[in-house]
Amino acid sequence: MDIHEYQAKEVLSNFGVACPDGALAYSPEQAAYRARELGGERWVVKAQIHAGGRGKAGGVKVCDSDREIEEACENMFGAKLVTHQTGPEGKGVYRVYVEAAVPIDREIYLGFVLDRTSQRVMIVASAEGGMEIEDISAEKPDSIVRATVEPAVGLQEFQCRQIAFKLGVDPSLTQQLVRTLQGCYRAFTELDATMVEINPLVVTGDNRILALDAKMTFDDNALFRHPHVAELRDKSQEDPRESRAADRGLNYVGLDGNIGCIVNGAGLAMATMDTIKLAGGEPANFLDIGGGATPERVAKAFRLVLSDKNVQAILVNIFAGINRCDWVAEGVVQALKEVEVDVPVIVRLAGTNVEAGQKILAQSGLPIIRAATLSEAADRAVGAWRNDLSQATRVRAVS
Ligand code: ADP
Ligand code: MG
Repeated sequence: MDIHEYQAKEVLSNFGVACPDGALAYSPEQAAYRARELGGERWVVKAQIHAGGRGKAGGVKVCDSDREIEEACENMFGAKLVTHQTGPEGKGVYRVYVEAAVPIDREIYLGFVLDRTSQRVMIVASAEGGMEIEDISAEKPDSIVRATVEPAVGLQEFQCRQIAFKLGVDPSLTQQLVRTLQGCYRAFTELDATMVEINPLVVTGDNRILALDAKMTFDDNALFRHPHVAELRDKSQEDPRESRAADRGLNYVGLDGNIGCIVNGAGLAMATMDTIKLAGGEPANFLDIGGGATPERVAKAFRLVLSDKNVQAILVNIFAGINRCDWVAEGVVQALKEVEVDVPVIVRLAGTNVEAGQKILAQSGLPIIRAATLSEAADRAVGAWRNDLSQATRVRAVS
């Protein structure tokens, strides 16, 4: 789960990371009022979306007066901000953050990621702040400083000092950098984050180290341990298909193709998507309905997959190991009676009680296209989608 910049700054501040003063606003008037409350003469108005690259896309504006703040906000509120990270559809702006403008001496890149190879938290830093990390690694790879953290002892001060030295930070500022690094590391580990990025971390004209931008991503599977983090979720920034899935406890990732997938098991779901592609089609989604696919769960899955208007065929691929094919088949039949499905449905069952399962599908009277193997199922799904099967062979069950 991603959170907004202002939320990440609040979280990180609680761990001792210094950020400029700022306040949140939901309207242009409120933004101007918030700026007056903050005081000072110069502010930065920042569109709050779950994506970076806002500066170059007009989502970060320096303002010197109430009027400028309101004007900047008028252009941001309600608009879709398109940055190189949002995709062409952009993300809606419904909140802005008003922050004290800070005199910048230098910008540093700072990131904390989970390095799966070393199975450790890795710190990635560069003196070339302000640029995206992808550009830094392409253009200035030598500027990147890396350090992994030994989990048993945590981030050590000497490691932080080494990073400060390699970044060429003035020795008088080392202690501030140590505090920032350790704060980020503690926030990362204590809150089950998978990413913390501060870009830029700046050295100000008056010798302070401040996080000018902040991004945090959290492990969805650990959110139950951190209700105050879970509360920061903003559905307006998510793919609506994925929000619906998350609300229903389904593991779903929306894609751009036309063949909807309903599969039990994440590995099998990946293999199903690969096989669809191999057969010449494009999957519309990844969906793992989990091991115990009850009829209710299957029905939920059908509703979810069909809520994507691009779906023109549905491939159900179930391997029953602990589960039983007859039970899953009952679920599919029940789901098709409950949910109105007007696209071809291809079902491949394998594993425990497969014959009984096939019998249930065959005797249901529903025009379910059955397949014995995964590749046959994928071929049939792609064929069904291509041929745009005649209305007669379509499943049209009434709810
Ligand atoms: P994004 O990464 O989405 O473009 P940032 O928060 O990094 O957004 O802002 C873009 C740039 O705007 C920063 O690199 C920095 O130069 C400038 N900026 C952002 N916040 C402030 C601030 N409070 N004071 C001065 N400059 C700022
Ligand atoms: Mg940034």
